Amino acid sequence: MDFESSSDSAQSTELDHLSLSLIAMLTSADPDVARIIADEAARQSQTLELIASENHVSAAVMHTMGSWLTNKYAEGYPGKRYYGGCQYHDQIENLAIDRAKKLFSCQFANVQPHCGANANIAAFMALMNPGDTVLSLPIKSGGHLSHGLKPNFSGTFYKVVDYGLDPVTERLDYDEIEKIAIASNPKVIICGYSAYSRAIDFARFRAIADKVGAYLMADIAHIAGLCATGVHSSPFPHAHVVTTTTHKTLRGPRGGMILCNDAEIAVKLDRKVFPGSQGGPLMHVIASKAVAFGEALEPSFALYCERVVRNARELAAQLTNRGYRLCTGGTDNHLMLVDLRPRDSELTGADAEKWLETAGIICNKNGIPNDPRPPMVTSGLRLGTPAITTRGLREVHMPQLAQWLDTVMGSKGDASVCRTVRGEIRTFCRQFPLPH
Ligand SMILES: *Cc1c(COP(=O)(O)O)cnc(C)c1O
Repeated sequence: MDFESSSDSAQSTELDHLSLSLIAMLTSADPDVARIIADEAARQSQTLELIASENHVSAAVMHTMGSWLTNKYAEGYPGKRYYGGCQYHDQIENLAIDRAKKLFSCQFANVQPHCGANANIAAFMALMNPGDTVLSLPIKSGGHLSHGLKPNFSGTFYKVVDYGLDPVTERLDYDEIEKIAIASNPKVIICGYSAYSRAIDFARFRAIADKVGAYLMADIAHIAGLCATGVHSSPFPHAHVVTTTTHKTLRGPRGGMILCNDAEIAVKLDRKVFPGSQGGPLMHVIASKAVAFGEALEPSFALYCERVVRNARELAAQLTNRGYRLCTGGTDNHLMLVDLRPRDSELTGADAEKWLETAGIICNKNGIPNDPRPPMVTSGLRLGTPAITTRGLREVHMPQLAQWLDTVMGSKGDASVCRTVRGEIRTFCRQFPLPH
C-alpha cells in the first residue's frame, strides 16, 4: 500500500514542528532513514489505528525520547549508581517514580523495565524460584505470552497451570479458578490480559490467592490508563505486585513498570530488575515516562479514558447491529473480540486483517475462545479504541467506522471497494491529525 509519500506527505500530515525539523535534519544526514520515517508518519496519519495495544503519544512524550539522556549509563538506582555524572538522571528517575506512585496510589514503583515482558520477568524472579507453579490464563484464551507460554522465559523456567474462560459466557469463572488454585497450589496467580474485554474482579482474585497462600500478580499492561483514572477498578490494594506497560492505554513511551505496596517485595523487585534481568536503564525513555505520567495526572486524561470506553461500547453495538458477534457479548473496557463467523462463516481473521489494511484500517486477527482455526488464521479480530480516541474520534463516528469495517469484509476484500474506502478514510483522517 502506498501513501502520499515521503517528506511532502509529512508536511501535509500536520506533524508537529519538531518532527518536521527531525525529518529535515535526517534528510541531509541519512536520507534513507529519513524517507522511511516520513513514510511511517504518513501511514499513521492516513489510516485508522484499531490495534488495541497501540496509541499515539503526544509530541512532548515523543520528543523527550530523542533527548540527551540517551547518552548516559545510569546502572543502579537514584543515589546508588555505578557511574558518575548521574545527578540529573537521579532527578528524572525520582520524578518518574513519584508520579507513578501518585497515579496508581501506591508506595513503590520501579520505572526501569524496558518493556512489559521484562517487568514480568523481574516480577517472576522476585516472587518465585525456578520450578515453582504459576497459575495463569493461556494466550489462546486472551492471556499474554509472558504469563507462561512454553517457549517464553515464563514457560521455560516455571511450572505453568492454566485456568480458562467459561465456555458459555466466555468470561472468567472465579469459582472454577478457585478450584484450580486449590488443586494446583500455585506460588503466584496472574490476572490481567491482552484480549479480554470485561472488567477484572481484583478483590475476588485476591480472596482466591489468600485461600491458597499465593501471591496475586496483576498485569495491567492493557488497562493501565483505565485503572489510573478509575475507569476500571484499581488492582490496589488487592494485588501484591502490579506490572504494566507504559505505551498502551497509558499513552506513554514504549516501556514497562512494576508497582507494589510491600517494602520487602519492593526490595526484591528492584534487585530482579537490576542487576537481575537488565543492565543500564533507558534514561531517555524514563524521562518520557515521567512526561506521560504527568499528562495522565491531568483531568483531561481521565476524560480521554472515559471516551475510550464509550467509543468501544458504541463500536461494539454498531458491529453487533451488522451481524457480527462480540465475544462475551460486548465490552467493559477499550477492546473487543469480534467473532466473524456469524456474519460470514468463510471469513477468517487473517483475510479480514489484510483486506482492512488495504482499505486503511489497521487491526489484528485474534483467536476467539475455542477457535477451530489455527492462530495464524483465526475466526476473530481484536479491535481497540485507544488510538482513534486520541485522534479525536467520538461515539458519533462509530457508525461510520463500523460501516467501513463491514463494507470491506462484506466485499471479501474487493480491490475497488477497498480503494474507495481507503480514499474516504484518508479524507476523514485529515479532520483528526496525530497529536502535535
Ligand atoms: C502487551 C502486554 C505485555 C507485554 O508488553 P511488551 O512491552 O510488549 O513486552 C505484557 N502483558 C500483557 C497482558 C500485555 O498485553
